[in-house]
Amino acid sequence: SEANHQLHILFFPYFAYGHMIPIIDMAKLFAARGVKTTIILTPVNASVFSSSIDRERSLGLDIHIQVIRFPGAEAGLPEGVESIDDMTSPEMLPKLLAAIKMLQQPLEKLIQQHRPDSIVADSLILFATEVAIKYCIPRFVFHGTSFYAQCVDESLKCHRPYMGITSDREAFLVPGLPDKIEMTRLQLSDIFKSERMAGIWDLVRDAEQRSYGILVNSFNELEPAYAMHYDKVMGKRAWAVGPVSLRNRDNIDKVQRGKKTTISEHAVLNWLDTKELDSVLYICFGSMARFSKAQLLEIAVGLEDSGISFIWVVRTIKKEEEESFLPTGFEDRMEGKGLIIREWAPQVLILDHPAVGGFMTHCGWNSTLEGLSAGVPMITWPMFGEQFHNENFITQVLKVGIKVGVEKWSSWIDTEDVQVKKEKIANVVSRLMGDGEEGKHMRMRAKELGEKAKEAVEQGGSSYERLTALIQELEMVKNTSPANVAL
Ligand code: UDP
Repeated sequence: SEANHQLHILFFPYFAYGHMIPIIDMAKLFAARGVKTTIILTPVNASVFSSSIDRERSLGLDIHIQVIRFPGAEAGLPEGVESIDDMTSPEMLPKLLAAIKMLQQPLEKLIQQHRPDSIVADSLILFATEVAIKYCIPRFVFHGTSFYAQCVDESLKCHRPYMGITSDREAFLVPGLPDKIEMTRLQLSDIFKSERMAGIWDLVRDAEQRSYGILVNSFNELEPAYAMHYDKVMGKRAWAVGPVSLRNRDNIDKVQRGKKTTISEHAVLNWLDTKELDSVLYICFGSMARFSKAQLLEIAVGLEDSGISFIWVVRTIKKEEEESFLPTGFEDRMEGKGLIIREWAPQVLILDHPAVGGFMTHCGWNSTLEGLSAGVPMITWPMFGEQFHNENFITQVLKVGIKVGVEKWSSWIDTEDVQVKKEKIANVVSRLMGDGEEGKHMRMRAKELGEKAKEAVEQGGSSYERLTALIQELEMVKNTSPANVAL
């Protein structure tokens, strides 16, 4: 009989930090439960994550990176661009997708070489299902989003409630969901507007339907009605094993989850230590989003007018703009009051600090879940992707946030002049962070959810036990698969 009974799972993320970070956290989760995990990364991305993974291995986890060559040049991408986050314009996206397409052969080679028992691949790695079927191993889909967002997209796709509407600003109801959810046509994502994107969406759904099931970075107590709705509508098995960011317990892991931060963790923590409980607003728009100078200026003035302490992660469209967009004397006036971090912050570390009492977020799903896990109420500023769904989930379903009032879907590089005015910004910041009842209630509810999130990932909690059940199931599959019987 076979000597090695240990499960081996391959992880194949999509080429964006918001997808790589959670899938790598997920690989760590499996590894912490005795599974051998191998993460497939291209050279630039591997260099970003290698120190955190090396560290996990030195602590005893059976976790590895398998580097594969990135065919960027063949696809017409500049050297060094291996993720959406490295792009200087959205026009590079089709080239990135073309390069990813070329990775099917290398993946097959890896499977022949490693003989893994299963593969967890991002929903945008379309060929993973095909390859898994060819090699008779279960493929799991990772969407990097919530049950809620998937249910909304499915409803929009099936019922097309936006068709009978006369104006782009008119609200329509998303039918068939557990809650009454309204949207406008301006907030719809590309998959409902462009045929090319609709086509990709169909391929994603098709690959999902033919996969073994989906892994979700969420936890059952957060969205039980939507987990059930997904099950009913999609008929696909799903395992909610999150929030995966909670796996990063100590400070070093919280700092090193993605790119290197541009400020020392001590500097941030020391700064936060001088602040009172729940008094600081943390502002960050994820790994990709960049605003115009005009919008950044509007945020700066809004923050100053609100009088609230803040940490603000600033990413400009052009590097040269980094120093030049702020109002004269802003940083001097804000000394001690506001901390500006350029490019990349240790987000989970900041959110978990007791002084942080609010989060202005673009509603990327990771950021949303990290905010919820830290028990922090939010100001929602969605931009693209399924972020308008997450905004509704935060404000309408969970009721732990206030909309800043973004009207329409934009790109992640937002060159538009101003989407949200300073008066509006100052107003919602005061509402969330001030002494009023509204903010207090949201803070209380957010703290309760934060506790539930932590319970979910502890032994006996829903996500913990879901993962146990999945690992046991995969062990059974391994022991009864035809390949193994033949041995
Ligand atoms: N992130 C971070 N520091 C930053 C910006 C982002 O650590 O300065 C992390 C954040 O904690 C989250 C991820 O990057 O895990 C962003 O994912 P999300 O889904 O929120 O947004 P996206 O980047 O995909 O738009």
